[in-house]
Amino acid sequence: MHEPYTKKEISAVIQRLHNSYKNTEEGSLAKYIPELGKANPNSFCISITTIDGETSFVGDDATMFTMQSISKPLIFGLALETHGLDHVRSRVDVEPTGEPFDSIIRLDNESKKPFNPLVNTGAIAMTNLIKGSGKTSRQEILEKTMENYVGRKIKVDEAVYESEKITGHRNRAIAHLMLHFGMVEPAIDEMLDLYFRQCSFNVNAKDLSVIGATLANNGVNPTTKTRAIKDQYIKNILALMFTCGLYTYAGEWAFDVGIPAKSGVSGGIMAVVPGRMGIGIYSPLVDKHGNSVRGVRVCGDLSRELNLHSFARGSKF
Ligand code: GLU
Repeated sequence: MHEPYTKKEISAVIQRLHNSYKNTEEGSLAKYIPELGKANPNSFCISITTIDGETSFVGDDATMFTMQSISKPLIFGLALETHGLDHVRSRVDVEPTGEPFDSIIRLDNESKKPFNPLVNTGAIAMTNLIKGSGKTSRQEILEKTMENYVGRKIKVDEAVYESEKITGHRNRAIAHLMLHFGMVEPAIDEMLDLYFRQCSFNVNAKDLSVIGATLANNGVNPTTKTRAIKDQYIKNILALMFTCGLYTYAGEWAFDVGIPAKSGVSGGIMAVVPGRMGIGIYSPLVDKHGNSVRGVRVCGDLSRELNLHSFARGSKF
């Protein structure tokens, strides 16, 4: 399907939404990783990339921030490509938790599997599946995966990475618990190191819209034409983003906004409109769920104005 709205129309809508929300000051900076508390609360950017590779953006595209949980669906995809669906499903379930992302107890009582790959338990189990001949090669695979989605070289923010490493005691506890239940391999320190790295890749809002557009375009980055993920796994990734992507707000999001998305505690949201576009938003003031306040509002308005809800039938089609 062709994008029914022109670049000019899309630009006008995001410009208006940026104006409407740029003074919204609700929410606060995530501080549990101390480095994240240093973000500029006023920074705000909205970007849309269509599947023909055209990007429209408004606001602060210069500020880089760390991907945090937005890395999780991409690493789930990497695990699927490396090991196939059956093996991955033997390590993780696909149920929403209704609990905070870093909950320790939410391993399924019987199977001891993490509930899904988009909360920390499941994400760490997926990072554990990155295959390589040693630490460096696993790091390279991780980096290459991200770069294919983003379409350019990206770097780890060393300060955030160190900050996560120093304060990541809950994630260490999660890893130990999963090792106790035999859900991960014993090299826990290396696994956590990789996990902290994947959370610490620096991106901007435009990058998030390109990642979203890659998923919207059946796995091929529309700006570089490089395949980032096999098309057969897109439906698995998007189904999880639809049901589990917005922390404990996931149900409300599916109901109101109605598109697959993943947010991160640094204030990014990456959303996907299959066959049409990727949306990237950055504003670091997050609500009690961990979602960007401005980001959630902008996406709600975009969904209504551009008729993006997965189950809406609009006059433009
Ligand atoms: N690095 C963060 C953590 O594991 C990711 C949090 C998030 O964005 O949900 O605590």
